[in-house]
Amino acid sequence: FIGISSSILPRKFYFRIPLTTGWITRIDPSLSSAREKFAGAIYCPTDGSGDARMFTRNLAEYCATQLGVTFLYDTEIRDLETSGDRITAALTNKGRIAGNEFVVCLGVFAPRFARKLGVSLPIYPIKGYSVTMPIGDKHQAPTVGGVDEDNLVAYARFGNRMRVTATAEFAGFSKTHKPQDFTHMLRATRELFPQGADFGQPDYWAGLRPMTPDGLPIFGRGKRFANAVMNLGHGHMGWTMSAGSARIVADMVKRTEPAFNPEGMLVKAV
Ligand SMILES: Cc1cc2nc3c(=O)[nH]c(=O)nc-3n(C[C@H](O)[C@H](O)[C@H](O)COP(=O)(O)OP(=O)(O)OC[C@H]3O[C@@H](n4cnc5c(N)ncnc54)[C@H](O)[C@@H]3O)c2cc1C
Repeated sequence: FIGISSSILPRKFYFRIPLTTGWITRIDPSLSSAREKFAGAIYCPTDGSGDARMFTRNLAEYCATQLGVTFLYDTEIRDLETSGDRITAALTNKGRIAGNEFVVCLGVFAPRFARKLGVSLPIYPIKGYSVTMPIGDKHQAPTVGGVDEDNLVAYARFGNRMRVTATAEFAGFSKTHKPQDFTHMLRATRELFPQGADFGQPDYWAGLRPMTPDGLPIFGRGKRFANAVMNLGHGHMGWTMSAGSARIVADMVKRTEPAFNPEGMLVKAV
């Protein structure tokens, strides 16, 4: 995963600068060999990028060691135990886990569970691919993350690795991949950064984006159970929206006034 967009920042920090071709290579000299191909670019100085996996693992470690959170890995929720208008426990392959409040955040698998909660969710898996390659001393890797809008390829540098993501496919729930799936994105990357990374050592990956028709996430409570809150459908921007979404959900669980207004993103109970 690559982007963390400035859209999470207050509007006063959110600005974009159109660049002529000369300025593109001043901002990122690694694009020099492709400069003739550019019509222009849009630069957003407040945008950033990062390694979502590293972020998530370190956040989990912090929560476990500093905040007393218990994470149960390799634990599959198979059903929900209910009583009246409340969910009382998640029934897993490792036993019953009781709780007072439940947050539904099962990515592309959420619709099956949500039906039990009286919610019909318009979430569909959209498959995407990423490839990560090592960067050595001799490489001229990107210094600023970006998107090639013609080819819909996004790229970023993570220390001594370069990651590229692309493609949106309707492929059901399959996460399989083969080298040919990456041909287009690697060709586009080589055109931008011929010496950008070690293209001979690709680390391939594919995942499923939980997409909604309008691209907005879904929050709120279902109709049947009072103690379940949705945090779903973040599509291609789940990491970017994760902190803001967590804030909305935390406020909903506490039943306090939301710090961010979730209007237009509330679940439609059926
Ligand atoms: C190629 C690609 C590139 C992307 N690039 C970016 C990017 O640059 N920036 C960005 O912000 N986002 C990006 N995304 C999107 C981001 O990955 C998603 O929006 C985000 O992961 C959604 O988070 P989630 O927690 O809702 O779902 P997931 O990350 O899918 O997590 C859901 C979890 O629920 C678990 N689960 C499901 N069913 C059960 C069950 N019955 N019992 C127990 N556990 C269960 C799953 O195993 C999974 O761990 C990208 C996605 C892809 C595929």
